[in-house]
Amino acid sequence: MPGTFKTEAVVLRSIRYGEADRVLHLYTVDRGRVGAVAKGVRRPRSRLGGRLEPLSRVRLVLHEGRGELCTVSQVDTVHPHAALRERRAPLERASQACEAVLRLLDSTEPNRPAYNLLCNELTVLDSDPVQATRAQALAFRLKLLLAAGFAPELAACAACGETEHLGAFSPSAGGVVCAGCEAGSFPLSGDAHRFLVEALARPLADAPEAPERALSQADRAIAETAEFHAHVHLRRVA
Ligand SMILES: [Zn+2]
Repeated sequence: MPGTFKTEAVVLRSIRYGEADRVLHLYTVDRGRVGAVAKGVRRPRSRLGGRLEPLSRVRLVLHEGRGELCTVSQVDTVHPHAALRERRAPLERASQACEAVLRLLDSTEPNRPAYNLLCNELTVLDSDPVQATRAQALAFRLKLLLAAGFAPELAACAACGETEHLGAFSPSAGGVVCAGCEAGSFPLSGDAHRFLVEALARPLADAPEAPERALSQADRAIAETAEFHAHVHLRRVA
């Protein structure tokens, strides 16, 4: 049904289109993923101007036509995240966060926890550049998996329920596994296991730390869980 609606969104990606337009991938608070055209936005005196840069949090008026893409008719900035664009590490982490949302949450089903998590991550990276670490990026990803409904089992063996000797991770079983259920798994150190448990429990701005080797295992556990259960390929977090 054609019509006009208001929403709030984070601009995940912006692609040049035609002479002066851009196609935007938006993650909205109440409509999930929305694609939109910002007409004339690349002209110097466009009234939509620079407010639609990727990583911006905006309030929009969108017009829904017959095609797949909406048209942006108004935009107000909620948060430009200007500080995070000025430093390489936070900018990279923020782009990785948007990329993960693009891949994991591609439906028009609204997911408010995922939306809030993304906004929170951008705020954390914008206000405190030292937060732009590998550990923090992994904590965000794990919480995003939870919001998307794909959180791995971490409390007991995902295959048999055993709560001791959980030294491996099995993407196909969907979490940590015990010594007796190791088929198809890879080793997960105590540090890596603790990291995953704490990353889920703690706020984003207070992500746990872990040795590099443990972070690599956690990274693999998160990426392979997304691959196996969400059929989504996430680039590893370096
Ligand atoms: Zn088991």
